[in-house]
Amino acid sequence: MKVITTIQDMQNEIMKHKTLGESIGFVPTMGFLHEGHLTLISKAREENNIVVLSIFVNPLQFGPKEDYSTYPRDFDRDRALAEAEKVDYLFYPSVEEMYPHESSVKVVVQERTDVLCGKSRPGHFDGVATVITKLFHIVMPTRAYFGKKDAQQVAVIDGLISDFNFLIQLVPVDIVREEDGLAKSSRNVNLLPEERQQAPILFRSLQKAKKAIIDGERNPNKLVNMIKEAISSESDGEIDYVEILSYPQLKVLEKLDGSIIIAIAVKFSRVRLIDNIIFQID
Ligand code: AMP
Repeated sequence: MKVITTIQDMQNEIMKHKTLGESIGFVPTMGFLHEGHLTLISKAREENNIVVLSIFVNPLQFGPKEDYSTYPRDFDRDRALAEAEKVDYLFYPSVEEMYPHESSVKVVVQERTDVLCGKSRPGHFDGVATVITKLFHIVMPTRAYFGKKDAQQVAVIDGLISDFNFLIQLVPVDIVREEDGLAKSSRNVNLLPEERQQAPILFRSLQKAKKAIIDGERNPNKLVNMIKEAISSESDGEIDYVEILSYPQLKVLEKLDGSIIIAIAVKFSRVRLIDNIIFQID
């Protein structure tokens, strides 16, 4: 595995593989790798000749009061894990390399951001779309792998790829969970021990709502309240949002049918967790 820190070197390497007609699988991350990331990498490994993993904690996508400075980082551990997963290139640029000066252009996401994390993290998806646009131009992937844990991000990237005509196949990957149901996340290490005990209520509340829908409940307000009550009674977390929307359009539903997402965000003392389930109602 080669570790690459400059854009120029990364593009030079990629061009060699492109000339040979090889496919490039790309997994963009912010590091502090866990099994969720490793699942994306192994899928990319199965489906492509070359696998590129990027690790970059992108300051553009963090709000001023968010956890940019406390976001967990451990490059040596990440490098060993990437090597074990047979990554070919680990792209690890500095902030100065990615943003050497104030950008003259930024990408602004116009749709699918007035709900969920877009509503509570203004500017977040502009930061994501801007860095992903740069990374796509640097890595020039055939396929790009994104986790459904960040379901709104998958929807936004889907729009980015189609609106800007990137010749890239988006591959969404299912959420990887701990045994107790908590969605794996780099941020989980910032939960206090008692919060870690409480955190599986997020997934349990989603499953409870899904079961109620299967049993015939179709009133979105009732379902949202059911989830809110479950979370407040079993955790100290502060609910940021609970929403039921169409997926991937992320529109408010008058009537529950078709492909839907139930998504939640809960703030604990040092970390905000998100989770969701996506399924089809017939
Ligand atoms: P991050 O490092 O948090 O930016 O995540 C990098 C990629 O890994 C994103 O596409 C995430 O959606 C994905 N990812 C993170 N956690 C999980 C998980 N538990 N299951 C599946 N994918 C995940």
